[in-house]
Amino acid sequence: MKPEALLHPTPAGLYCPPGDFYIDPVAPVGRAIITHGHADHARAGHGAVLATPETLAIMAVRYGEMFTEKRQPIAYGEVVEVNGVTVWLVPAGHVLGSAQAVVEHKGTRIVTTGDYKRRRDPTCAQFEPVPCDVLISEATFGLPVFVHPPTDGEARKLIASTEQFPERAHLVGAYALGKAQRLICHLREEGYDKPIFIHGAMKKLCDLYEELGVPLGPLEPATIEKGKGEKDRFAGEIVVCPPAAIQSTWARRFPDPLPAFASGWMRVRQRAKQRGVELPIIMSDHADWNELTDTVEEVDPSELWVTHGREDALVRWAELQGRKAKALHLVGYEDENE
Ligand SMILES: [Zn+2]
Ligand SMILES: [Zn+2]
Repeated sequence: MKPEALLHPTPAGLYCPPGDFYIDPVAPVGRAIITHGHADHARAGHGAVLATPETLAIMAVRYGEMFTEKRQPIAYGEVVEVNGVTVWLVPAGHVLGSAQAVVEHKGTRIVTTGDYKRRRDPTCAQFEPVPCDVLISEATFGLPVFVHPPTDGEARKLIASTEQFPERAHLVGAYALGKAQRLICHLREEGYDKPIFIHGAMKKLCDLYEELGVPLGPLEPATIEKGKGEKDRFAGEIVVCPPAAIQSTWARRFPDPLPAFASGWMRVRQRAKQRGVELPIIMSDHADWNELTDTVEEVDPSELWVTHGREDALVRWAELQGRKAKALHLVGYEDENE
């Protein structure tokens, strides 16, 4: 069948008419397939939600147990039929439980990557390329200027800074789902075994990651009681907090706070400056330009549909390679990195 008849954009999100379901809908719908737990992809209030068990657990932590009427957990690779349309989920390498949605009907197969990356992430399963007729790729960092540096070097940069400034508390902004836990794991891999302090907003998701088998090492709450010497406890320590917190009154309780931010956007000096970030840590859960283009070449779909970010540059690149490509212009997704 024509791929547009199998999956096409609507105001509520990508819709599959024969299966009567949406992928990552931005409005409440009867039946949703959710690629991962980030708030712009995983919204509460759908009738039924099909997702990996991890994504469903993340949604329950974020929205409460009643986030949907019906949960349909499927493991990676488990094949199900939804109103006669074949569906399965494949690792996307973005955050814990993140998946690409594979939809197949009457000889046409479409893969929706959701958000993805190719480099190793100790907190989640590695991206797997799936041959298909249409690849729907995200393009958050879809410009050649975006090439993320090796992650281990960025983790070491942070550790080195705590040694260089042993009197300053290192406040590291990181998104509560995925980035915070990944940053902590990379620090552990670089031999950092001291307690890492976490903001209260990180606690539930860090607990869930550990419950789901991602060890994070010793974590302590980043709370300062009133009292002598309390402040000194945080000198030279790493405190992980939501990005907005690094410039808040909360931050000022710490000794000479050094604001850091772990994000792919830290590649752009101006963004770091605007946010008052002294130590930019370039760590992204999205594919960079090379990962995006390598993935298109590896999957080698008959058609590329691009969404989520800088669509035009990736579409143009694909066309120059002689590929059929178009932008989907889906609305309602804003990267958690913003
Ligand atoms: Zn995401
Ligand atoms: Zn996204």
